[in-house]
Amino acid sequence: MAPSPALTPAPFRLAPFRVEPRFVTRVWGCSDLRPWFDKVADGEPIGEVWLTGDDSLVATGPHAGKQLGTLFAEAHEALLGRDAPATESPLLIKVIFAQQKLSVQVHPDDAMAHKYGLARGKTECWYALAAKPGAELAVGLKTGTTLEKVRDEIRAGTLEDSLNLLPVEKGDVIYVGAGTVHAIWPGSILLETQQNADVTYRMYDYGRPRELHVEKSLEAAKLQARAGRVHPVPLEDRTVLIDVDYFRIEKIPITGSRTSESLRGDQSQPGLAWLFAASGAGRLSGAGFEPLELPARGIVGIPAASPEFLVEGLGGLELIRITPNWPGK
Ligand SMILES: [Zn+2]
Repeated sequence: MAPSPALTPAPFRLAPFRVEPRFVTRVWGCSDLRPWFDKVADGEPIGEVWLTGDDSLVATGPHAGKQLGTLFAEAHEALLGRDAPATESPLLIKVIFAQQKLSVQVHPDDAMAHKYGLARGKTECWYALAAKPGAELAVGLKTGTTLEKVRDEIRAGTLEDSLNLLPVEKGDVIYVGAGTVHAIWPGSILLETQQNADVTYRMYDYGRPRELHVEKSLEAAKLQARAGRVHPVPLEDRTVLIDVDYFRIEKIPITGSRTSESLRGDQSQPGLAWLFAASGAGRLSGAGFEPLELPARGIVGIPAASPEFLVEGLGGLELIRITPNWPGK
């Protein structure tokens, strides 16, 4: 007997939703995040604002109050699309506020992470939302540096001599492949997009008393790591800031409004996308959900199964669209 049409489930829809920023204290952070976020620390300084962590809370819609990790567990197909080779949230997106130098650190690649029973390694990139004149980041080691030299310099307290320093300006995009020895230094505010993994090996901390993971960091470190400034690619309707394994980041101009279809561009298969307002504000509206505000530095998740919508600029909107790329797919 043919199934009754009435029993065929309607296609599952999951509307766009905003995520509440989660403020994470760090010794190297800032006490006042204004005007970037309306937030003043009431104790320890805040170093990281997690926009999409598994513990971050959905702020709007029928899933408001739910942790993002829980939403992915319940609705990964609607979020990521039917063909996605994952069920967990693939990208962790943060804004980094550094008042002091972060430790020199290394993240493992997927292969090393798997060796130690971890789900994935961590490749990341930074988009500079702001930078003071003279601001620098440490990305990779100087040419000719050996791991033996690194080991000696960790012991002697002179590792800074071997770090490759990169001047950073507002709008710069810097790729930090897994295995790159790196450190964020004060002077810039960075939008960090990374594989959703919490695995960092601290190699060097300028003599501060925090625990180091020297052996693991040396195992993870790649002397020829792929890292450095990325040149954006201007297209007719957007600028591709970076397009590599794990993520693609685009800057999309909005004059008036744009449809969700036009935001997807050549990505014909709907998948998960994050819309971040680097500056200005916007609004999303469509059938089946309440109009959704996108405030400055706010982030909205666009599920693969989202109904079509319109995004509208409310003045000065710099819209950043972040989508996962699946290696080998
Ligand atoms: Zn890092």
